[in-house]
Amino acid sequence: MPKHIASGLKYLAAVKLKETGKSHQEIADELNVDRSTISHYLNGRNLSWNSIDVARTIVELSPRDFLKMAEAIFDEPEQSRKIVSICKERNFKAIIEDSCIGCGLCVSACSMKAIKLESLQAHADSIQCCGCQLCSEGCPTGSIKILEIEND
Ligand code: SF4
Ligand code: SF4
Repeated sequence: MPKHIASGLKYLAAVKLKETGKSHQEIADELNVDRSTISHYLNGRNLSWNSIDVARTIVELSPRDFLKMAEAIFDEPEQSRKIVSICKERNFKAIIEDSCIGCGLCVSACSMKAIKLESLQAHADSIQCCGCQLCSEGCPTGSIKILEIEND
C-alpha cells in the first residue's frame, strides 16, 4: 500500500509542478522518475483514484503529520522533503530571535533542512519550512517563532 500512496503523492506533486509551467521532463527530473511515468500520471493512467484520494488526505493533515507520513512512506529523506515542499498547502515564516545561543538543536530537529548555523546563530529559510514546529518545541531558549502566512 505505501508504494501506491507514494505514487499518489508523486501524482499530486506532478500536477502542482505542471501548474508552474514545468515540462514533463523537468517534472520527471525533479521527482526522480522517468518521463513516461509522468506523462502517464498527467494523463490519468496507471494510478487508482483511491491512491490519489489517500494522498490528498495526507497532504491535508497537520503540517507535522504530513511530514511524518511522508517520511514513513518514502525511503529517502530527500524524496519526502521534496514531496512535502511541493505539495504543502500552507506557508510559514520561521523567525529566530537574538536570544539564540547557537546550540544547534533546531538544525538537527528540522527534517526540511530549513535551519543552518552561522557564526553561532541559527538562521532559517522560510521557503523550506513546512510548519511542523519541531524546532521551536525543542529550543531551550524559546527563540524560534513559526508564523503562518496567509496565501494570496
Ligand atoms: S535550538 Fe534555539 S538556541 Fe539552539 S540554535 Fe536553535 S534557535 Fe538557537
Ligand atoms: S517548523 Fe522548524 S523544524 Fe519544522 S520545517 Fe520549519 S524550520 Fe524546520
